[in-house]
Amino acid sequence: MARKMWINGEFVTGSAEGAIEVLNPYTEGVLDTVPAGTPADVERAVEAAQTAYGEWRWIPAVERADLLHEIARRLRQEGESLARQLTLEGGKPLVENLDEVGWTAACFDYYAEIGRHSRGRVIPSIESSQLSLVLKEPFGVVGCIVPWNYPLLLMAWKVAPALAAGNTVVLKPSSVTSLTTLMLAGVFDHLPPGTVNIITGSGEQVGDALVAHPGVPVIAFTGSTAVGQRIVQLAGPMMKKLHLELGGKDAFLVAEDADLDVAVPGVAWAALLNNGQVCTSTERIYVHNSVYNEFTSLIAEYVEGLVLGDPLDPATDLGPMARAPYRAKVERQVGDAVQRGARVLTGGRRPPDLQTGYFYEPTVLIEVKRDMAVMCEETFGPVLPIAHFDTFDEAIALANDSVYGLGANLYTHNARYVKRFYEEVRAGTLWINDPLTDNDAGPFGGFGMSGLGRELGEEGLDEFQQTKHVHWDFNMESKEWWYPYEQYNQER
Ligand code: NAD
Repeated sequence: MARKMWINGEFVTGSAEGAIEVLNPYTEGVLDTVPAGTPADVERAVEAAQTAYGEWRWIPAVERADLLHEIARRLRQEGESLARQLTLEGGKPLVENLDEVGWTAACFDYYAEIGRHSRGRVIPSIESSQLSLVLKEPFGVVGCIVPWNYPLLLMAWKVAPALAAGNTVVLKPSSVTSLTTLMLAGVFDHLPPGTVNIITGSGEQVGDALVAHPGVPVIAFTGSTAVGQRIVQLAGPMMKKLHLELGGKDAFLVAEDADLDVAVPGVAWAALLNNGQVCTSTERIYVHNSVYNEFTSLIAEYVEGLVLGDPLDPATDLGPMARAPYRAKVERQVGDAVQRGARVLTGGRRPPDLQTGYFYEPTVLIEVKRDMAVMCEETFGPVLPIAHFDTFDEAIALANDSVYGLGANLYTHNARYVKRFYEEVRAGTLWINDPLTDNDAGPFGGFGMSGLGRELGEEGLDEFQQTKHVHWDFNMESKEWWYPYEQYNQER
């Protein structure tokens, strides 16, 4: 059954004539189709969101909070079926998708409360007859463009604060995971029609039209740096507010004092969660020389023991990669590294016993060089390239050896290393001894080519509010510093 878009509270085919197939990466079969939307559908969705904005922005924050909590409740209620659908179209193991739905619901609860409280402030006036206010206001319609790897969570990081701040939303999911996103209609349908709209279609057609639409003053985007640059090109001249969460190449430092029985599974999980298809996946590992040999042989043995298979099977650690082109990119990078002298300790191929599905064996690479693609381009796959360092100065320099700056990790008990690490490493999130843990109250975002702006925390709400200064004098009196200046000059 072909799915429909969701505009102004109704399922519609819109002006789409074609359809986009959504695949199951485990079977390589077609799950269903979604409409290939057009700019005319974007127009319709933006119009609906603009009309809804007239109502939504004036709903008192306390009532909006209740409506956001209801979204969280519905997400939990539908958790199993959402997670199952996400497993079918994205390939992440079911347990990871159940966690994703849980975090998605928690994000709506979090912004329900943050939105209920923080608002503008009264600032000191210049004179006693005056009142000076700082107001925080919504922008209007926010265009939310989301990737496939965490389509519900990254939707929530944008939609929850945008709604809490009083904006309305046009949401464009990735074509890879549009089916799960369309299921969200049932999660949002208690809101006034048009408050959230979901349009499907390609990035080139629907994404570009949304970014360029003059009625959409804010674009909140998560995805690749290349598409982020395209958005800047289109929206920059229109002075839109851009919120860009882009690619990464996160480093993991393992100091000489690290407990290897924790560091080995910890680094493996940070690199392999969702097959390494996480923006903050560990993609470069640097280990102190004194423990390098032991670490590399232990992690190769550990990774070799992980179970690949059906992502719905509770015994599976790693499902298939999301789509064939993403696997092809990993194969290219590993092939290039090996040709240039890197050594594969385990993996480096498609699993011989899993011919169907976009599987790739988790791969441990050593003897890598800093200018290999696998060490400087985003891989977004199940690869652990491991290099070594001698001094902590060297370790910091290696961690910073990237145009990206999303996150970085460290295993150590040494407080001096910890302080240097969080002060000197250029990245938006620094994890020490607890890789990749999320915290709704902790702002998340990147340095450098990893993007602009922050999601989560109070900063995540600020992104969807504009600031006004109101200066009000209760007296209506003329001022001595007005014209004529001759008189003013005499009085000074
Ligand atoms: P992508 O950039 O290919 O697509 C992301 C979204 O943008 C999709 O919805 C896509 O349809 C849309 N899009 C594509 N072309 C567009 C255009 N011209 N205009 C507007 N929208 C367009 O990324 P992806 O393959 O879906 O996701 C993987 C990437 O996302 C990786 O680079 C990863 O690092 C990044 N990512 C970043 C974060 C973060 O928080 N920084 C989180 C998750 C993923």
